[in-house]
Amino acid sequence: MADAKPLFGKVALIGIGLIGSSMAHAIRRADLAGHISGYARRPETLARAREIGFADTLTGSIPEAVKDADLVVLATPVGSFGEIAAEMAPHLKTGAIVSDVGSVKSAVLRDVGPHIPDGVHFIPAHPIAGTEQSGPDAGFAELFDNRWCVLTPPPGTDKDALARLRTFWERCGSNVDVMEAKHHDLALAITSHVPHLIAYNIVGTADDLETVTEGEVIKYSAGGFRDFTRIAASDPTMWRDVFLNNREAVLEVLGRFSEDLSVLQRAIRWGDGDALFNLFTRTRAIRRGILDAGQDSAEPNFGRNRTKKDQ
Ligand code: NAP
Repeated sequence: MADAKPLFGKVALIGIGLIGSSMAHAIRRADLAGHISGYARRPETLARAREIGFADTLTGSIPEAVKDADLVVLATPVGSFGEIAAEMAPHLKTGAIVSDVGSVKSAVLRDVGPHIPDGVHFIPAHPIAGTEQSGPDAGFAELFDNRWCVLTPPPGTDKDALARLRTFWERCGSNVDVMEAKHHDLALAITSHVPHLIAYNIVGTADDLETVTEGEVIKYSAGGFRDFTRIAASDPTMWRDVFLNNREAVLEVLGRFSEDLSVLQRAIRWGDGDALFNLFTRTRAIRRGILDAGQDSAEPNFGRNRTKKDQ
């Protein structure tokens, strides 16, 4: 049952694309804020958000958006956080919590941390939920349901503020983990960042091939390629900023990936069927683990063959 009083008086969402607008819907669903203010740079984004109606106030001014807010969440591309933090800092309310949803965490501590005034709590966060869509139309309240949200509080973080942010994400539907930023960045490099890089790379390679036509690539894409194209359709600005801001962890995982790829190349060259079979058996078990954890649909082909009406 929802409490009589919302968890926060005012929540400011700095960025109202896929993640920001989904948060607004989830906040409304669970009655977590007395007032939601939304910020975007472009008037067309604000106009569209106004039409959809997921915020109480919408503005192109950062000081206005964060004024009197009890929770401020940065939900723009990671590369913009430093500048936004500098602009909002003098307007933050004492006792407010500043958080974010950025896909990298060490860089957020580095870029935002120094701007946070005394008396304001700073707790970076990353909801591990998303789609390849962007903008205010892409958001929906269920995005965070049964997904993990990782909080990376810096040393000395106020316990009550941390507990409130945890409650906030739990009531948005998420499971919450707390860890160090550096560990988050390595874990996400393998589970998200490098898989995106591989998808961008394979789709780019197919696009550059001269002997297989573009028509064939599209026609035969059900063979596996199209599952990479979903990931490779993700927002270019967001992903550019992820790679620029998680360089160390991505390069470390990529090094391992390249070594393992060479082992596979060698197995194919020397006809080592056992090596291939053993790896493919091990990887099937990972997929089963993801299904058992309720992190994907067990339906064949991700449930894609269902008709629109069943969805
Ligand atoms: P999005 O749908 O493209 O929305 C971005 C929002 O930020 C829009 O409101 C956009 O509005 C605004 N914006 C863009 N560039 C800006 C800039 N330079 N300065 C100020 N505002 C700017 O992006 P998203 O998918 O919601 O991603 C937002 C954040 O969530 C990113 O930090 C990303 O790493 C993180 N994240 C994404 C996912 C995912 O799967 N997409 C998952 C977890 C976390 P205007 O263009 O009008 O300014």
